[in-house]
Amino acid sequence: MDIQFLPGVGPKRAELLRKELAVETVGDLLRLYPFRYIDKSSVVRICDARPDMAYLQIRAMVMRVDLYSANGKPSGNGMSLDQESQRGAAKDNAIKFNTIRRMSVWVSDGSGDMEMVFFKGIKWMWERLKPGTEFIFFGKPTAFNGRINIVHPEVDAVSGTTPAAGASADGTMTGVYPSTERLKNGGVTGKVMNRLMEAALNKGLPQTEESLPEYIMKQCGLVPLHFALRNIHFPKDMISLEKAKYRLKFEELFYLQLSLLKQKYVRSRAEQGIHMPKVGEAFNKCYEALPFPLTGAQKRVITEIRNDMKSGRQMNRLLQGDVGSGKTMVAVLTALIAIGNGFQACIMAPTEVLAQQHYKNIQKFLAPTGVKSALLTGSSKTSERREIHAGLEDGSIGIIVGTHALIEDTVVFRNLGLAIIDEQHRFGVEQRSRLWKKASCGAPPHVLVMTATPIPRTLAMTLYGDLDVSVIDELPPGRKPVQTIHATDGKRPALYKFMRDEIAKGRQIFIVYPLINETEKLDYQSLEAGAEEIIKHFPFPDYKTAVVHGKQLNDVKNFNMEAFAAGRADILIATSVIEVGVDVPNASVMVIESAERFGLSQLHQLRGRVGRGSEKSYCVLMTGHKLSKESRHRIELMCATENGFELAEEDMKMRGPGDLEGTQQSGLPISLNIASLAKDGLILNAARDCADAVLKEDPTLTSDRNQLLRKELKKDKYQIKDYSKIS
Ligand code: ADP
Ligand code: MG
Repeated sequence: MDIQFLPGVGPKRAELLRKELAVETVGDLLRLYPFRYIDKSSVVRICDARPDMAYLQIRAMVMRVDLYSANGKPSGNGMSLDQESQRGAAKDNAIKFNTIRRMSVWVSDGSGDMEMVFFKGIKWMWERLKPGTEFIFFGKPTAFNGRINIVHPEVDAVSGTTPAAGASADGTMTGVYPSTERLKNGGVTGKVMNRLMEAALNKGLPQTEESLPEYIMKQCGLVPLHFALRNIHFPKDMISLEKAKYRLKFEELFYLQLSLLKQKYVRSRAEQGIHMPKVGEAFNKCYEALPFPLTGAQKRVITEIRNDMKSGRQMNRLLQGDVGSGKTMVAVLTALIAIGNGFQACIMAPTEVLAQQHYKNIQKFLAPTGVKSALLTGSSKTSERREIHAGLEDGSIGIIVGTHALIEDTVVFRNLGLAIIDEQHRFGVEQRSRLWKKASCGAPPHVLVMTATPIPRTLAMTLYGDLDVSVIDELPPGRKPVQTIHATDGKRPALYKFMRDEIAKGRQIFIVYPLINETEKLDYQSLEAGAEEIIKHFPFPDYKTAVVHGKQLNDVKNFNMEAFAAGRADILIATSVIEVGVDVPNASVMVIESAERFGLSQLHQLRGRVGRGSEKSYCVLMTGHKLSKESRHRIELMCATENGFELAEEDMKMRGPGDLEGTQQSGLPISLNIASLAKDGLILNAARDCADAVLKEDPTLTSDRNQLLRKELKKDKYQIKDYSKIS
């Protein structure tokens, strides 16, 4: 039923609800859940209000109203109780509301007084809040100048049922719904939402069909949908509310997992994949010549990959491993399996610098095998490029390393059997699919995606639900921990002395400036000012400094980067472009400026740039003195642990999964309405197990009792964006 036909909603409100909340039908409205609950029956006395209360409801009389114009001075149009009689239409009209920036409304309930502050909707409120009139004010208290005020409170007229100040009626919970300024201005206040919800339940519930099969509800102890919807909006009591929440979260996560797992089942039954039965000679030669034994984790992962490749089905595997865990080694050995079976392999990196580094790194491992490899990037010369194209086409090049240049139409493979993608989140779906089209063997190439961004398990299960996941959870032996230190500006002289000492020992240093937005001028200014300051304290020719940032021409950037990598510069001043980049084992110090502006996983990535050599390494997090609670928590975590997975879990708890590095670009494949990947891990596990059991028994959902599942899965909400699917 169209929302417009719900009592209390006309065309205008319908439009608002559609625009602001994407609510089009009564069903949509019922699925808009409160994000918290309040006990609106209790009214607090002003003298009992505390700034740490989650919300505050007071019943008070307007005493005076002051208007302030842009310069912060009173506009001279203020009015108080005794002036009220003088307020007339003439004076009202004289007020130029477009010049008013702030309205301060002083209210009193006899126990004390409090200020209500408005920055928006001033004219409307000015007309309503007449001195001498009593209202109910509701909102989140804030502490300001040692007093408590409420900014943009909800304002309601006092009615016969309003409790007196300090009174509390029998505690009933009222849902609080997402709102916007536009909705409020359009009269859709919290109270109106509650009324609409009641109407929606009355009208809509009888038409709402159960969305989970009876047998699943029984098996998993879930309450029926009608009960859940009633109690999520108007909880009968705490227990009913919990049951309602559990059911709705379970349902959401269940269908999400069912959808992901179904894709996986379909794919694995499709039996299309290049059969690579043997390990091959090249692999063995490389393996025997390795300068170190593989770690247990590396061995395990290679076995997993090997099993995929000989299964006859296409490999779609995500390899997660912290920085320095030795993913390159795994990539090389995987590529050599493809070679050993007579196929070509490609390794794609997100940047030119990374591609070069990969290429350089793998040469020493390939040397004993005699396999020919090449590097193809945007800056490869035409003649070189022609030669590489020919080598790929006739199959004389076995392994090609490169950037996006690899997916150009002019690149033709003789028989591409494997694609390894480093840092996959930087490649778009479209780009990847162009690569797959290059397969000329009748079956898509095996795919190994490598990421150094640890993804919490619950998130991986969702983002990559249709991929198999391997984790390297062990660092090569002998790795020295990186000592992480937090310092503020006052410590700068000490920092410089420390840096000089390290340089005197022959070490190199990274200094990184935040670059949140490539186009933001301010960020470059901070980098440039910082660079000047550093060069002043570390003057040429005693010290050599290189600067690298995203706005430089590629040649300049590469030249400077190489200067540092080759040890010709002591200090590299950079933006976060080096995040996934260079491997400079001699660098022992990573200084991160304005560290509070980086996310946890970014800080962790940056820190991973040091500690790669045999020397003790340090990461210095420079911040301002004043830190938000969240920033402080982040910095403390960084100092406390080096475990990327632990940090990722914390990051997700703090910021929510949608903001995590790696998910920002594409977003989550589905938007969750009520469940949280960060907080509902247990429900997610239960839902996934249940979905898995259903599919094991009936992979195509054809049995009678699963018809409802089939129908639900077709809903838009469960159409997962083609995002984690990489083939
Ligand atoms: P990642 O790509 O996962 O960040 P790398 O593959 O660059 O890590 O490996 C980091 C360093 O560790 C490299 O210098 C590599 O040669 C070395 N390395 C890899 N595997 C081992 C191992 N099993 N034992 C000792 N060193 C290793
Ligand atoms: Mg690497």
